[in-house]
Amino acid sequence: MSEQEHVTLQKIISLTKRRGFVYPSSEIYGGWEATYDFGPLGAEVLRNIRNLWWEEFVTKQPDIMGLDGALISHPRVWEASGHVESFADVMVEDLVTHRRYRADHVIEESTGIVADGSSPQEIDDLIVSHKIKSPAGNPLSKAKSFNSLVEVQVGTVENAKTTAYLRGETCQPIFYNFNLVRESMRKKIPFGIAQIGKAFRNEIKVGPFIFRTREFEQMELEMFVHPREADIYFDRFKMWSLEWLKSIGLNSERLRLRDQEFKERAHYNKIATDGEYNFPFGWKEFMGLHYRGDWDLKRHGEFSGENFMYKEEETGEEFIPHIVEYSIGLTRLMFVLLMDAYKELDDRVVLSLDPRIAPYKAAVFPLVRNKPEIVEKAQDVYNTLLRLGISTDWDDRGNIGKRYLSQDEIGTPSCITVDYQTLDDNTVTVRNRDTTEQMRVPIEELDELIG
Ligand code: ATP
Repeated sequence: MSEQEHVTLQKIISLTKRRGFVYPSSEIYGGWEATYDFGPLGAEVLRNIRNLWWEEFVTKQPDIMGLDGALISHPRVWEASGHVESFADVMVEDLVTHRRYRADHVIEESTGIVADGSSPQEIDDLIVSHKIKSPAGNPLSKAKSFNSLVEVQVGTVENAKTTAYLRGETCQPIFYNFNLVRESMRKKIPFGIAQIGKAFRNEIKVGPFIFRTREFEQMELEMFVHPREADIYFDRFKMWSLEWLKSIGLNSERLRLRDQEFKERAHYNKIATDGEYNFPFGWKEFMGLHYRGDWDLKRHGEFSGENFMYKEEETGEEFIPHIVEYSIGLTRLMFVLLMDAYKELDDRVVLSLDPRIAPYKAAVFPLVRNKPEIVEKAQDVYNTLLRLGISTDWDDRGNIGKRYLSQDEIGTPSCITVDYQTLDDNTVTVRNRDTTEQMRVPIEELDELIG
């Protein structure tokens, strides 16, 4: 990461804390590693992204439905999914500082070799043959596998508690509920089930910032298809997911799709393509498209005894449906959108977020504070916008110029000023965040302009 990029990243971290987007969690207790709380503005941004994603991939789709599954399900779910056995990263320890690292990250950073998916033995061989040291320059321990599932003890009777797992990905409830959804909703293949929610992983290496955390949120869509149609859906999801990102304003130059190499792929994937963003710390995944074949339903069938065979009415053919998955991290996507929107222009900092994602759609200012008619009128405009359900900020501090700067850095697309002329003709000035241009607009047209 260049000095300039490091500075930009630090500025974004500091801006998002200072302005109520992202706080380090439990800060009064000294913080809790890699855990963040989302402040009032961050909560709005997350809600806006969630709503836009759900509207596009669920509400508007006749063949896709939503689900809200449990965070903790039967422990057998995670045995069937393969996570108990192989949801593991290989780690190495710095023998002097005792800091732990993901082995593939250390190897990639010092040699450029992609080692994700390598066994502990292969990692040890690479460390020896390339004389790899820890990032602090110290010798490394032997590589060990480390399971990422977060265990929880559930139950009320001491000694009779069951070890269960916080879900490591949101899609498992979708898989084990496949028959219930299909029957209760009377669906025929192909159809999809989507879910947005929290997932938990005991990540060895966390950060930077909210890029990799132990608790995070995912948006996942699982399409159940006939095997012959899997390729069509895979290609369709590639196009569709990119188009959606563009529609919410993501700059395509810093965005790319990359097909995963065989070794990198998770145990269940036949084909996998990553959506990557060019962060200051390199091209990194924030979205994945996976062809999971019949792995998931087959395994849940084997472990539970449930019959997941599907009979096609027209042909009488029986098969286990195949799954094409589109998975995107909500909190990681928020980071991508913040990085992409952050701009330093002349004397101002602007978060040029899509207006539908910006925490406030508008801010209302009275031109002066000492003229009661102006303040009252401005309050009327503010309250009207709130009643219309338009997320709006109020600011009467300092001068107008400072208020504009303050709104620019949180991405508010329109600033509305009530002034002397408003009292005569019921119009206000609306100043645009990106162009800084101002225009006069009748108050009754405001909701159309910004709503
Ligand atoms: P990575 O290689 O970064 O660990 P992954 O390949 O394990 O990610 P998936 O299991 O495919 O990720 O999860 C889908 C998406 O969930 C990722 O593209 C990412 O956006 C998000 N995600 C996964 N792990 C984390 C995490 N620890 N913190 C934040 N988001 C995450």
